[in-house]
Amino acid sequence: MQQSEQRFRCPYCGERISVLVDPSEESQDYIEDCEVCCRPISLHVEIDSDEHVRLVARRGDD
Ligand SMILES: [Zn+2]
Repeated sequence: MQQSEQRFRCPYCGERISVLVDPSEESQDYIEDCEVCCRPISLHVEIDSDEHVRLVARRGDD
């Protein structure tokens, strides 16, 4: 299965970030550092049955 490019806004600085998501994992949680402000973003990824990716970005320091 191909990796899917997902975009979101950094919850700290508002910059647009893109990440590659592996759609073979149904649910994933991980930390990605913002490319711009270098703060930790908590990412939650869910894949539905149509392999549609849903990504939620939250501050990792809450
Ligand atoms: Zn940022």
